Amino acid sequence: MRHELPEEKVFKDPVHKYIYVQDRIIWNLINAREFQRLRRIRQLGTSYLTFHGAEHSRFSHSLGVYEITRRIISQFERLGDADWPKEERLTALCAALLHDVGHGPFSHSIEAVFDTHHEEWTCRLLLEDTELNRVLREVAADFPERIVSVIRKTHEKPIVVSLVTSQLDADRMDFLLRDAYYTGTNYGTFDIDRILRVMRPHKGLIVVKESGMHAVEDYLMSRYQMYWQVYFHPVTRSSEIILRLIFRRAKELYREGWKFAHLLHPLGRLFDGQMTADDYFRLDEPLVQTQFMMWTEEKDPLLSDLCRRFLHRRLYKYTTMDEPDEALLDKAREALQDAGLNPSYHLELDYPYDHPYHVYRPGGESGPGAQPILLLGDNGELSDIADRSEIVRSLAGIHRGRHHLYYPEDLLLKHHDRMPADIRRLFGLA
Ligand code: ZN
Repeated sequence: MRHELPEEKVFKDPVHKYIYVQDRIIWNLINAREFQRLRRIRQLGTSYLTFHGAEHSRFSHSLGVYEITRRIISQFERLGDADWPKEERLTALCAALLHDVGHGPFSHSIEAVFDTHHEEWTCRLLLEDTELNRVLREVAADFPERIVSVIRKTHEKPIVVSLVTSQLDADRMDFLLRDAYYTGTNYGTFDIDRILRVMRPHKGLIVVKESGMHAVEDYLMSRYQMYWQVYFHPVTRSSEIILRLIFRRAKELYREGWKFAHLLHPLGRLFDGQMTADDYFRLDEPLVQTQFMMWTEEKDPLLSDLCRRFLHRRLYKYTTMDEPDEALLDKAREALQDAGLNPSYHLELDYPYDHPYHVYRPGGESGPGAQPILLLGDNGELSDIADRSEIVRSLAGIHRGRHHLYYPEDLLLKHHDRMPADIRRLFGLA
């Protein structure tokens, strides 16, 4: 089979302007139904309830990661750098394009309740009987496994892995720029052209020329801004909590043998933990939202109330605490119980710092292929950017997580006159 398309294909993209496809395999992967499904999965989950512009999909992000990877590789090839293994071009491009293909609807909330993992699903969709698998096998019988080895970070060449996942990778560069664009948060942007120009393959790793240090500082600063302004936004966390509670309640009812008036396929399979690749393909956000709309009529008052809250954006209010006061929280749970509410559904303590994100980890992240961001000096010496930049050191040292206590203010208001004064104060009720 000819690898090149007779004519280059171009996608218009608001972040990168254009996305260029030259390989037939890439084009066929984009047209596979499992990849097209990503149009129906939002990149930022429930963030659209906080930032109304954040409706962009995993489809556009995946194309963006592919395009950044393509640009990096063409630059390595243009420089004729012997440290870049040319034969890995297609592997790197496919892995970049497909790295998020296993994301489910509102991934993080579903994963927390059902113990699934999107990375595991990415691998299953590449290895099992799917359109993606068929396209990949046209390259070579073991090509799907090769892509999976990049996703699992076990590929024998760390440089290929680090293009797609590292502290300065195509994935992060795309989602930071894209999420900043669609949320309208300008301080999330940075000069990607400059960063791409100073990246170099070097002894099996990707490094940055020393002269690019300030551009990388700017990128890490944008990471910092996006985490605290967008990703950890307490209102978004509130909508994630509601979602998690919906799935938790539905699963609980299902396990108790509750006869749902409506249960869309394949949610029963999800509750049973028995999903096939075909079931997973069907699981998308329109399906989940339709199910929620049906459940607003469900007889279980907890489930129907939570679904209405999610769909109509009647989110839980929150109060901020530096340190949780356990005795006070116990008392609050008791007060909720006395008021006829359910503390395991109507009170949720949240701490965003449990998230696996850090602005920067000096010395690298844990796991294979997880190197620090390395600066390449004129003399050929490598150094961790944290050893050279005071800004990066300060960013890496910031731990400013605070606890938030979430609760349905409207329900509490109905009973607040019977609550002890300190509990009323805790919830900000008069
Ligand atoms: Zn991604």
